[in-house]
Amino acid sequence: MSQYALLIDYKYCTGCHVCEVSCRKEHDIPLEEWGIKLTELGPVKMQDKWLWDYLPVPSDLCDLCEARVAEGKKPACVHHCLASCMELVPVEEVGKVMAERGPKVTAFMPR
Ligand code: SF4
Ligand code: SF4
Repeated sequence: MSQYALLIDYKYCTGCHVCEVSCRKEHDIPLEEWGIKLTELGPVKMQDKWLWDYLPVPSDLCDLCEARVAEGKKPACVHHCLASCMELVPVEEVGKVMAERGPKVTAFMPR
């Protein structure tokens, strides 16, 4: 699965936690562990603006939903995110897609 990256466009993230729940259900992850974890940046005042963002961060348990993708499905978190924050992108297209989406985009590739 190293040919793909999970692109997270967190400027649209509402902090709803659905990605955490869908990942946990898909992979039967116990409550004390996380496949992806929502973090919160802020609130902090930066010059005259307030920074307050939600950012989901995949853990080492994330395999980019290899089994689902092999069946032609989207990763569970991508499929269930109501804000369409996430996208599975071929590694060679990551730079291009990030540039198209603008600021507050991050990409994750499992080890
Ligand atoms: S499901 Fe989407 S909108 Fe909800 S917390 Fe996760 S990334 Fe953000
Ligand atoms: S791609 Fe799959 S394993 Fe990775 S965080 Fe999303 S749901 Fe979890």
